[in-house]
Amino acid sequence: MKIHEYQAKEVLRKAGVAVPRCIVARTPEEARAAFQQLGGAIAVVKAQIHAGGRGKGTVKGNPSQRGVQLVKSADEAAQVAKNLLGQELVTIQTGPEGRVVNQVLVEEGCEIARELYLGIVVDRASYGPVLMVSSEGGVNIEEVAAKTPELIYRERFDPAYGLQSYQVRKLCAKLGITGASVRSAETFMKGLCKVFVQCDCSLAEINPLVVTKSGDLLALDAKITFDDNALFRHKDLAELRDLNEEEPLEIKAADAGLSYVKLDGNIGCLVNGAGLAMSTMDLIKLHGGEPANFLDVGGGANEAQVTEAFRILLSDKNVKAVLVNIFGGIMRCTTIANAVVAAYKSVGFNVPLVVRLEGTEVAEGRRILAESGAAIISAEGLTDAAKKVVASVSA
Ligand code: ADP
Ligand code: MG
Repeated sequence: MKIHEYQAKEVLRKAGVAVPRCIVARTPEEARAAFQQLGGAIAVVKAQIHAGGRGKGTVKGNPSQRGVQLVKSADEAAQVAKNLLGQELVTIQTGPEGRVVNQVLVEEGCEIARELYLGIVVDRASYGPVLMVSSEGGVNIEEVAAKTPELIYRERFDPAYGLQSYQVRKLCAKLGITGASVRSAETFMKGLCKVFVQCDCSLAEINPLVVTKSGDLLALDAKITFDDNALFRHKDLAELRDLNEEEPLEIKAADAGLSYVKLDGNIGCLVNGAGLAMSTMDLIKLHGGEPANFLDVGGGANEAQVTEAFRILLSDKNVKAVLVNIFGGIMRCTTIANAVVAAYKSVGFNVPLVVRLEGTEVAEGRRILAESGAAIISAEGLTDAAKKVVASVSA
């Protein structure tokens, strides 16, 4: 689960990790008041969306307005907020459709001496968290990673003991942090590592981590992602979820107990079991098609869930054909066949439907489909099913 920058900064602030003073605003008037409350000569107005690259991103239809902008008066803060709120911001991470900005963060302007990069992820190779730092922080870190990866330095830490002081000193040496700033770095890095472990994060990224003119370290940007599987033990963090930022079909599917991930292709897939769902997608691709989604209805799906699954698939306007691939193990093919027929009748199909059934009570299941009178293309085996559904979209 992703959260907004302003929420991430609140999590960090509570944990004693230094962040600039900032106030979230949902109207231009609130942005004006926030500028006044911060009381400085300059502030920065920042669009809050679940995507990075805002500093270089632009508002659709108003390309001179960027997603992060320095302002020098309350009027200017209100004007920039007006230009951003309710508009779509397009960044390198949003895709061409952009994301609607529902709130902005008004933050005190910071006197930046240096912009560093600091990120923590789970390293699958070492089964633990790894801290990554680079002296080349700021808005071009992707370029650094691609062209000069040697400028990114990695340090693993033990989640039980946290980041150790000797590790902080090593990292400071790599980053060229010296003198009094080392103490500031120690508080910052240890605090961030603690947040990462305690909140069950899968990502905590501070870019830029700035060294101010007075030598302090501050998180000028903050991106935190929580591990969904651990959210049940963080009720407070789960409340930070912003449904406006999530794919509406994925929300619907989660409510119906289905695992659904929307993709860019045009072949809708309805499958039971994650492994079978993945092989189905692979086969579709192998035969020249593009899956529109990953959808696992689970081992014990009932008629209502299958109907809902069809609704979700068909409400994606990119879907030009649907492939149902069910292996009757615990679930009987007859149950799924009845569900397919019922769903077919109640949802109303306007695209070809290819069905492949195998397993428990398969003969009876196929008979139900054949006798239903529904225009179903039946397939035998995975390859046959993939070929038939790819042919039906290219036809
Ligand atoms: P994004 O990563 O989405 O582009 P950032 O929050 O990293 O957004 O902001 C982009 C750039 O804007 C930063 O690298 C920094 O140079 C500048 N910036 C952001 N916040 C402030 C601030 N409070 N004071 C001064 N400059 C800022
Ligand atoms: Mg950033």
